[in-house]
Amino acid sequence: MELNQIKGIGPKTIEYLHKLNIYTIDDLVHYYPYRYNVYNPVDILSLEEDNIGVVSGVIESEPKIAYIKRNFNRLSFRFLTGRICTNVVIYNRAFLARNIHIGSEITLIGKYNREKNLFTANDIKLYPLTHTEVEPVYHVVSGIKRSQLSKLINKVLDSDISLEDHVPNIINAKYSLMDESEALREIHLPKTTQKTKQAQLKLKYVELFEFMFKINILKYKNQVFNDYIVKKVKSDNYEKLLANLPFMLTDDQRQALLDIVNDFNAEKRMNRLILGDVGSGKTIISFLALILNYQCGYQSALLSPTEVLAEQHYENFQKLFGYLNMRIGYLTGSLSKKEKKTIIEQIKNNEIDLVIGTHALLEENVEFANIGLVITDEQHRFGVNQRKTLQNKGAYVDVLYMSATPIPRTYALTIYGDMDISLIKEKPKGRKDIITKIHTFKDMAKVASEMEEEIQNHHQIYVVAPLIEEEEESDLNDVETIAKILKDNLHINYNVGILHGKMKPQDKDTIMNEFKNGNIDILISTTVIEVGVDVKNATMMIIFNAERFGLATLHQLRGRVGRNEIQSKCILITDKKVERLKVLEESNDGFYISEKDFEMRGSGDLFGIRQSGDMAFKIADLHKDFKILVQCKKDTEEFIMDNIETNFRDYSYYRHILEELITND
Ligand code: ADP
Ligand code: MG
Repeated sequence: MELNQIKGIGPKTIEYLHKLNIYTIDDLVHYYPYRYNVYNPVDILSLEEDNIGVVSGVIESEPKIAYIKRNFNRLSFRFLTGRICTNVVIYNRAFLARNIHIGSEITLIGKYNREKNLFTANDIKLYPLTHTEVEPVYHVVSGIKRSQLSKLINKVLDSDISLEDHVPNIINAKYSLMDESEALREIHLPKTTQKTKQAQLKLKYVELFEFMFKINILKYKNQVFNDYIVKKVKSDNYEKLLANLPFMLTDDQRQALLDIVNDFNAEKRMNRLILGDVGSGKTIISFLALILNYQCGYQSALLSPTEVLAEQHYENFQKLFGYLNMRIGYLTGSLSKKEKKTIIEQIKNNEIDLVIGTHALLEENVEFANIGLVITDEQHRFGVNQRKTLQNKGAYVDVLYMSATPIPRTYALTIYGDMDISLIKEKPKGRKDIITKIHTFKDMAKVASEMEEEIQNHHQIYVVAPLIEEEEESDLNDVETIAKILKDNLHINYNVGILHGKMKPQDKDTIMNEFKNGNIDILISTTVIEVGVDVKNATMMIIFNAERFGLATLHQLRGRVGRNEIQSKCILITDKKVERLKVLEESNDGFYISEKDFEMRGSGDLFGIRQSGDMAFKIADLHKDFKILVQCKKDTEEFIMDNIETNFRDYSYYRHILEELITND
């Protein structure tokens, strides 16, 4: 249902809602608060100094406003609460004065200083509170207020607009799940803990059921609509290639290659995931697959999540396999229209054997003459819907995914349940473990001198700042602050580059290239470098506010160094005592680390996949709710078996998803 079906909603508001990825009424009501403010009115005398409290009372005097400086004013009045008459001040809210009248009952939120008999309010409600009030807090963008969003949502929930229950009735009955619209009402305005729990359970189930439905439909599709080509790859083909490599494959790499060859040769369509630790050498396996596919006479595509990576792949491929004289195209979003057009023409006319690029490849109207293989790097960044787009690039296309998120096998089998999996656990021989140390901010001078040493040895350093979210009371160090800290502590000359997510892709690439070319000694960035960048000369990784990251993410970040024989270091800086970080000091094994991460961590960006695509769950948590996920796996399998024949006649919602995923567009 469209947003404009809500009475009184204007085009401007709709525009703002779009910025929050809210396009339909269904999206709107499923836009959950990320926390709640709880207002619990108390007696002012029970308030401890420095604790924020909530008190209700009556206004006793007309308000006074003092304009102290530009952008700085103070509103004050007298206020009677219980038997105490206190002075109240509020800063920078002069506009509230028109609502302050003698005799009005209001509620103040703030701190009370008993000695001075002064209440410093930071928020105010223009009505008295008698019992606890819970207020949902939503992420918003400027232009739309939290309260506005809340009102809008409640308007829908209270209206006669009927909301769909996304869980099939049979299943609702089986688990006695709460009605979805009731669950929504509860999540937006919680009443009792017990009820909120049930509401959460229902909404988690909704999310995970839909997710597993997609996975299982893809799996089903792979089994049923399995057009394939048999590519006749013989061992001669790859042994020759391997003999020309500057190194020997590890056993795991070799097994992954054999898995691929078997898929090529089998009477089925390949749908395989290579799951390997950072630095385990997945890329070379993908290159070999591309070549074998080419030798069988088909075109192929290699997709990366970023331009930097695409370029890196392009260069490395040429370096290692330039002698094969394959015709290789490079296609990314930043090419000029004309360049793109030329390449797209060439792909169509079979004048290009392999195209390396970013998602532009998916978006552009790229048609292949005879594509046989599509590979995507860093699969965890892509969603389920993209899996389908890839497969649909050609009728018989083999698909290979690569992911550097070493997640435990049980999880992999579930969330990648539609794919076959090859694991690469082993690292290439001769790799040294990255020495990892935890330091506090006080140790900065020591850290700085270690940095100086690296720079004097002509090595390069990555410095990672925690992601900046728009949180009000954040003491996190952003990239600029960190640049300053380094400047204050380092006593040698060095070149610094700064990267963050809000930069334009071209600017990011420029900085990244400067770093690659060695013109930048220290690269300060947010986690944008997490994805597969390979700069061999970088030997030190420093991560600020390490406590903010999941172990898996830290391990991935750390994997940017230690890419040659030089001993590399990783320094985790945190002032918090975080037990789990020690796992990184102890181990360099990504699979072990991710197991530990699962055991210890409550929630968060477990695999670093949270923000991505379809796995960006709003309320479910892959780890905490794994049992529900496993249940959803079973339930969706049954649901599909029971309804596939009738094409989900009774379940239009799922019929649409099915059509989306199955049609070859
Ligand atoms: P990732 O699995 O993180 O994508 P890469 O494919 O980028 O890892 O490999 C990391 C580095 O290791 C690359 O520079 C690659 O050339 C090198 N490499 C890959 N396999 C081997 C091997 N068997 N022996 C030595 N070096 C290897
Ligand atoms: Mg890689």
